[in-house]
Amino acid sequence: MDLSYIINELGEDRDAYFNAVSPPIVQTSNFAFKKVDDLRLAFEDEMSGYLYSRGLNPTVDILRKKLAALDGAEDALVFNSGASAIFAAVFANVQSGDHIVSVRQPYTWAWKMFDNILPRFGVSTSYVDGTNTKNFEAALRPDTKLIYLESPNSLTYELQDLAAIAALAKPRGIVTVIDNSYCTPLYQRPVELGIDLAMQTTTKYINGHSDTVGGVLSGTHAMMKKIFDSEYLNMGIGTSPFNAWLMIRGLRTLPARLERITATTRQLLQFLQQHPAFEEVIFPLDPSFPQYDLAQRQMSGACGLVTVVLKANTRSGIVTFCESLRHILMAVSWGGHESLALPKCASLTDAQFDPANREHRMIRFYFGLEEPAYLEADIRQALANAGLH
Ligand SMILES: *Cc1c(COP(=O)(O)O)cnc(C)c1O
Repeated sequence: MDLSYIINELGEDRDAYFNAVSPPIVQTSNFAFKKVDDLRLAFEDEMSGYLYSRGLNPTVDILRKKLAALDGAEDALVFNSGASAIFAAVFANVQSGDHIVSVRQPYTWAWKMFDNILPRFGVSTSYVDGTNTKNFEAALRPDTKLIYLESPNSLTYELQDLAAIAALAKPRGIVTVIDNSYCTPLYQRPVELGIDLAMQTTTKYINGHSDTVGGVLSGTHAMMKKIFDSEYLNMGIGTSPFNAWLMIRGLRTLPARLERITATTRQLLQFLQQHPAFEEVIFPLDPSFPQYDLAQRQMSGACGLVTVVLKANTRSGIVTFCESLRHILMAVSWGGHESLALPKCASLTDAQFDPANREHRMIRFYFGLEEPAYLEADIRQALANAGLH
């Protein structure tokens, strides 16, 4: 399906709302019925129509249709956060006694669910180095029901071979789930590679303006219905009409924003790679990246997030650098208009900081929509201020 059609037209029914170009925010909790039998049908299958906004809502449906089509999937569900999309995808597919194989160090709230919540319900998780598909195969057990992937991850960008892992899981009836937040479906289409469930946080690139939180899950209609009828309705974790409207608005400019961020990232990558203050610059579509071949095969683009390893002997050098940035903000998240820096040492005390550990000296940059020269000058002056040049 044409990307421009999906973003500008699919799911929209302008005749139904005064030919308004921007869709209405259908801010209602419930929908009225004229016939008892229509109400009966809605009770029987709440996914068949509008009954109550904890289930389906017309504004959310526009977004839902667009996001499913972007993923090349039959259907999608939009959640009130990426974390709740992950939660629903996993909870819907495991029960007591089951085993999960996950890529090691997945997104924080994925591993907290695996380590803190699921064991209370008799579900265990093994973590593997996902850069070698054989590690997944070796970790499988007769009770393995789900494989959890995140490719690339959002700090060091390790990949998993999605087609190979899907081929491993399918004949064994194991459900595969991927966190595709880094790439978005514009740069990687996991469902087409055989992955069952593609999750993304819509907080990041999809919404793109750092003003709301959301998530999406795509897959077969049967899987979406299973999740809708249970986790989605039971926990009330769908997105709100207003947030859906913000995300539709964000989606309109997604290709343009990613193109711009790709160009900026390329320019800043060159600057970072040539600067002596950095020992290493990590970016998955750079020839220096260990899995560059797989990245080229599996992803059609990469942008925004770049991790550097600073040549610094003390935590205070990194702290001074980060606190000297005047325009690049120090914050979590990414995918918005504003550039960001996130130092790994923010989760370490001075005593815990070990300069021999390269991870301790990492800073993750996110490059947003500012002028590249403006960002480069900011990094240069902060390095000078920290004596790192
Ligand atoms: C932010 C993020 C999430 C969680 O999304 P929320 O919308 O914050 O709940 C999941 N995975 C990755 C890779 C993320 O960056």
